[in-house]
Amino acid sequence: MSRRLTATISLLVSVAACGRSPSSGATPVQAGVLITNATVIDGTGSPGRRASVRVEGDRIVAVGDLQPASTDRVIDATGLVLAPGFIDTHTHADDGLDTHPEALAVVSQGITTIIGGQDGGSPLPLSTYFAALEKQPAAVNVGMYVGHGSVRDSAYYSIVRAEWPEVRQRLEAALT
Ligand SMILES: [Zn+2]
Repeated sequence: MSRRLTATISLLVSVAACGRSPSSGATPVQAGVLITNATVIDGTGSPGRRASVRVEGDRIVAVGDLQPASTDRVIDATGLVLAPGFIDTHTHADDGLDTHPEALAVVSQGITTIIGGQDGGSPLPLSTYFAALEKQPAAVNVGMYVGHGSVRDSAYYSIVRAEWPEVRQRLEAALT
C-alpha cells in the first residue's frame, strides 16, 4: 500500500453530510477537531477541493475556510484526502461482530457501513441479531439482507434429514 493511500485511509471520517450549520456567535464554541488543508471529497461527485473540516463530538459542523478555536485540536492534512466513510455492499465482516465489535478489519479500510447476507445466508431471525447489536453496538453501521438460503434451510432441513438415506442412495447410484 502506498504511503499516500495509507495516509488517506487514516483520515477518513464517518460522516455523510454536515448535520448542523456552522457555529454562530450565539452558540458557545465546543472543543472540537479542526482538520485543515485537506483535499475534501464530499461524496457528491464534485471534484476534490482544498478545505478545512470542523468536527464536534461525532458531527461535522463546518466545512470551508475555517480558523481554529482556542480549544480545537488541529490536524494538518496537507497532501491528504478527507472523504466520507465507505460502504461495503457485500461483506462477511458481519460474522464476528459479537466477538470483535471494534471491527478493525473494516474501519481500518475506511469502511463505516457493511451490508451482509448477499450470498443467501444470514442470521435468523434478524430481529435477534439486531437486538444483540443494539445491546453491544459495533464500530460500523450494519445492514443485512434476509438470507434466502437460511430461510429455506430453516424450513426444509428437518424434511431432508428424514429422507437423507434415500437421497444418499440415489446420489451414490448416480456416481456408479
Ligand atoms: Zn460473499
